[in-house]
Amino acid sequence: MKKQLFQPLSGNAMPRCGGPATFMRLPACELDDGLDVAFIGVPFDIGTSNRPGARLAPRQIRDESRMLRPYNMATRAAPFDGLRVADVGDVAINTFNLLQSVDIIERHYERLLSTGATPLTLGGDHTIVLPILRALSRRHGPLGVVHVDAHADSNDEMFGEKITHGTPFRRAVEEGLLDGRRVVQIGLRGTGYAADDFDWSRQQGFRVVQAEECWYRSLAPLMQEVAASLGSGPVYLSFDIDGLDPAFAPGTGTVEVGGLTASQGLEIIRGCRGLRLVGGDLVEVSPPYDTTGNTALLGANLLYEMLCVLPGVPYR
Ligand code: MN
Ligand code: MN
Repeated sequence: MKKQLFQPLSGNAMPRCGGPATFMRLPACELDDGLDVAFIGVPFDIGTSNRPGARLAPRQIRDESRMLRPYNMATRAAPFDGLRVADVGDVAINTFNLLQSVDIIERHYERLLSTGATPLTLGGDHTIVLPILRALSRRHGPLGVVHVDAHADSNDEMFGEKITHGTPFRRAVEEGLLDGRRVVQIGLRGTGYAADDFDWSRQQGFRVVQAEECWYRSLAPLMQEVAASLGSGPVYLSFDIDGLDPAFAPGTGTVEVGGLTASQGLEIIRGCRGLRLVGGDLVEVSPPYDTTGNTALLGANLLYEMLCVLPGVPYR
């Protein structure tokens, strides 16, 4: 039986300001609806250390995704012509219990992964990448990661807590979820506590590309090197919106100046084409600090670009 493909609801069938606010106005589906790719929201921000609000991002990103059309004019990707893609809604976390919520997320992703679907996640703060990586590595083995962020998110603890939005990559290493030689962190910057703040990552074998190395240049050459070093194994793409400069993405919780441009963000994701991507996320959008909606709109575009580089996408 030929699989039924879904197209985003056209702006000529329903005004873009109308209709249900699913991601890209795709159908709302159940976890077990035989999807190739599932957009999924995690309305979680109880791991946040500074400005809160990321729990509101899945809805806001869905709303601001309403302008997205199906065909990628730059890369010629036509994802909906080859993949069955829909929005499977949100994970029902417990906003009063962080550790329980982390378990809920892991179990929810296990169920989704058991269907064969590739998850593209609308976060949520960056804590959520830990349970997602747990579920993914159980299925695929140790993962390579492309991590875009102003921060390494590899603290040992925050206020004595081991699971926060500033600690997921240290926990992931400790738990054997990652292949450290196949991890790259791009966009790191800002003030620190000590000179060696980013060195823990390097000691794990990660490639760390600080923001200053990215200034004034195209990141396409960097991504050619990254793709070569990541090889043919499974790769996860984790994109913290604060990796981009607050001029482009002010609506976030832990702002650092001197970040990447929007077009560099596009280059990073487009440079992942050809990798064996097994999932991706866009985290740390905080709608209360996003007075224009442009941060969520940019986040929606970055999630669409992730879809466009997944294995199996046709190019026309
Ligand atoms: Mn982060
Ligand atoms: Mn960050």
